[in-house]
Amino acid sequence: MMGAVVKGCWAPREGISPDDVFSVSIMPCTAKKFEAERPEMSRDGKADIDAVLTTRELAQMIRMFGLDLANMKGEPADTPFGERSSAGKIFGASGGVMEAAVRTAHFMITGKEMDNLRIPALRGFDGIKEASIEVGGVGIGVAVASGLGNARKLLDSLVAGRTDLHFIEIMSCPGGCIAGGGQPTGTSPEVLKARMQALYNIDRDSALRTSHSNPSVRRLYEECLGEPGDHKAHELLHTSYVARDVPR
Ligand code: SF4
Repeated sequence: MMGAVVKGCWAPREGISPDDVFSVSIMPCTAKKFEAERPEMSRDGKADIDAVLTTRELAQMIRMFGLDLANMKGEPADTPFGERSSAGKIFGASGGVMEAAVRTAHFMITGKEMDNLRIPALRGFDGIKEASIEVGGVGIGVAVASGLGNARKLLDSLVAGRTDLHFIEIMSCPGGCIAGGGQPTGTSPEVLKARMQALYNIDRDSALRTSHSNPSVRRLYEECLGEPGDHKAHELLHTSYVARDVPR
C-alpha cells in the first residue's frame, strides 16, 4: 500500500514520474519479498515496491555502515506520511489492526470517539481473541487469530456456519508481526512480550491514537484518494487473492 501511494499520489504531486521512483519497503516479514512481486501489486506492469528489506537486514546494514543511531540527530519523516498515529504502530501486535480499525469505524459510524480506545480483549498472545463491541447501539462481533493453525480453526468455524462475526483479523505469525520471520533472530517469549508491550506503551503515550485524526491521512484522502472506498482509494489500497492449492 505504501508503495502504491508513493508512486500513485506522492510522485504526481511532486511532479516526479513514478518510473523515477525506487520504492524500498522495510518490513518485519520475509513474505513481503514474495508479496512485492505479486502481479496484483503493480500498475501498468510496474511494481509498487521495487525492493523489500527486512528489519533484520536493515539492522545489519546499519551496523555494516557504522551508523551510530543513538548519537544521530532526529529529523521529521517525509510526507505523505510525516505524521504517524499510534493506531498504525500497534498493527505490529496481533489484534492491533482490529483495534485501530474499530477506533476509526466507531468514529465514522457514530461521529464520536470511543470512550476508551483500548480494547483489552483483543490484546495478548491468545491464538484466537474475540470481542463484541457496541457501535452506535449495534453489537459488532470481531475476532482475531494469529498463527496459521488458529487461523484455520477460526475460518473453519465460519465455513461451518458461524454468523456472529462481522470483521476478522488474521496474522500468520503467532503474536503478529512482532514475531515476523524478518525480525532480529533469537526471540524468546519474553522478548515477544516486551515487543508487544512496547507497542502498547507507545500507543498509551501517544497524542495521536487514531488513523482518522492523523493529518497526513486526512490530507492524503483530500488531495489524492477521495473518499474511503472511492475508485482511487480502492485501486491503491486494496488487493485481491486467488485460491492456492495448499494440502490440508
Ligand atoms: S504476521 Fe508475519 S507473515 Fe503476516 S505480515 Fe506480519 S510478519 Fe508477515
